[in-house]
Amino acid sequence: MPVCRLLLCLLLLVVATTTSAAVSVMDRHTGPLGQAVVYLEDPQQQLDYQQAYQRWLQGDFVPGTDATLTFGIGGASVWLLLELDNTTPLTQFRHLLLDTPWIDEVHFHVFRHGVEISRWITGDNYPFTGRSQLQTGFVKSLELRPGLTQVLIHASTPDPMLVPLRVMDDAELMDFSLRRVFTYGLGYGFLLALIFYNTALYFGIRDRRYLLYALYLSVFTIANFSYTGHGFAWLWPESVEWQRWAQPLLMISFGCAGLLFATTFLDMRRHWRPAYRAAVVSVVLVLLAFTLSLVLQNQPMALLVAFVFMLVFTLLMLLMGLYRVRQGSVSARFYLAAVVFGAVGTLVTTLSVWGALPSSEWTFRAAEMGMLVEATLLALALASRIRRAQQRQQQAELAANTDSLTQLNNRRALYQRAETFWGVAERRKVPLSVVVLDIDHFKDFNDTYGHAFGDAVLQRLGQCIRENIREQDLAARWGGEEFIILMPNTTLDKAVTFAGRLLEVLRNTLMEYEGERVQITASFGVAQIERQDLNLDDLIQRADQALYQAKHEGRNRVCSCGQM
Ligand code: GH3
Ligand code: MG
Ligand code: MG
Repeated sequence: MPVCRLLLCLLLLVVATTTSAAVSVMDRHTGPLGQAVVYLEDPQQQLDYQQAYQRWLQGDFVPGTDATLTFGIGGASVWLLLELDNTTPLTQFRHLLLDTPWIDEVHFHVFRHGVEISRWITGDNYPFTGRSQLQTGFVKSLELRPGLTQVLIHASTPDPMLVPLRVMDDAELMDFSLRRVFTYGLGYGFLLALIFYNTALYFGIRDRRYLLYALYLSVFTIANFSYTGHGFAWLWPESVEWQRWAQPLLMISFGCAGLLFATTFLDMRRHWRPAYRAAVVSVVLVLLAFTLSLVLQNQPMALLVAFVFMLVFTLLMLLMGLYRVRQGSVSARFYLAAVVFGAVGTLVTTLSVWGALPSSEWTFRAAEMGMLVEATLLALALASRIRRAQQRQQQAELAANTDSLTQLNNRRALYQRAETFWGVAERRKVPLSVVVLDIDHFKDFNDTYGHAFGDAVLQRLGQCIRENIREQDLAARWGGEEFIILMPNTTLDKAVTFAGRLLEVLRNTLMEYEGERVQITASFGVAQIERQDLNLDDLIQRADQALYQAKHEGRNRVCSCGQM
């Protein structure tokens, strides 16, 4: 009967897919072996290892579908079985690596021909002893006789449960471990350099933001050091109790440090008070909730609090950045880009650890990579603040030296900048000349046309002067309607010629007042530095005398000191 045959085929197909084939130990396996593993969830923890083995024999285990198997967060308990096939006539030595450092209970039971031949009871609930420092996860070394060997693993933990399993020989494990140590070393080195650099900057500049940034990076580094298992491996191998609480505590500290940095960096107290209050309230609430879970000795609750806080923290960081960018803050743009990278990284890692995204080495380390980019961009954000401050200072200096009406140097700037001119003229014995000019009958002009039009005329005169002086000349508004032009490396004759030209320009510069053509004239006094001049004032005084003479002789002309 064709229908029966079809059903039989389907049944065989189902059986074939539910019993994963044994892993040949002679093959090279590049990724985790989740698809070669069969598993049985045991949330109530009712089975012992023998009962679990029996259930496997009965075919109750389900084949894994992903390379890295994930079972969610909050108290998963699972039995996994990996069957290894040594097809050679010789005993082979391999390492089985369960690459998640934080699982509380990990029990390995090795079976041959239905008999348990070795076991290793380990996990985060036990001191680090027996685990390799190069491998923060769990490495069970296996002596594989020819034929089939089964490894039954029981894993349970309130933390996120993900089970990446790898089989490697000595050389592969060494290569894998060194690669890990090297890449982590590189990341930590980068973070430490930034931490030290920004702490040093704080002591140099005394800007709190650098210190808070260094703190934020430090707490991230410690939190990462902890959840990757390096803390337990290297720093507190005996402190099981601390290892249990370090994870949620460090996650919470990281969030608090982040909010402290962000609210200060973006000056939230001033720019957006509600966000500042929300940050303070969330920090207070999370600290209370964590203390409560500590008092109740409820670690799953602490973990839940920490994960929820991470979500709140990420959202607040993003919102604050968005708000400041919309307000037009330039450094907030770097900040926002930084936080987006950090948030995406954290999100990818959290989701993959939770089982919502397929898990791999990349997704597991996304938070770290996001943080490296975030750290770099935040450094740029801080640098852009320095640049802004520098620009503001330059603008302030410029404003302090510039006459606001004519945009020429003011008297203060003239004295400051004239010093170099004076020094060069004295040392090198080169000529230095000065031209002073004063608008003729400006009082009457103001009376006739009004002060506002007088201002416009002064502006126009400033523009004429700027357009006609040479690059090396120094022009300033001396006060009222009097101007000074300092001309380095210029003899009296040349300065007089220049003054004459400017006089011509002024004569030809026509202004209009309510349709009427208006003309201004000015008188010029010119002097050249001489031995008796002790300072700039002496020189200017002589030019002033020439100016007085020009006024006296009928205005609208140039007089020089030598012509007196
Ligand atoms: P003289 O030809 O002798 O120089 O005659 P004057 O009227 O220009 O005489 P004086 O230099 O004593 O007068 C300067 C006038 O310049 C007085 C004031 O009304 C005018 N003044 C000074 N500063 C300003 C200014 O910033 N804007 C305007 N509109 N007028 C100014
Ligand atoms: Mg005048
Ligand atoms: Mg005057």
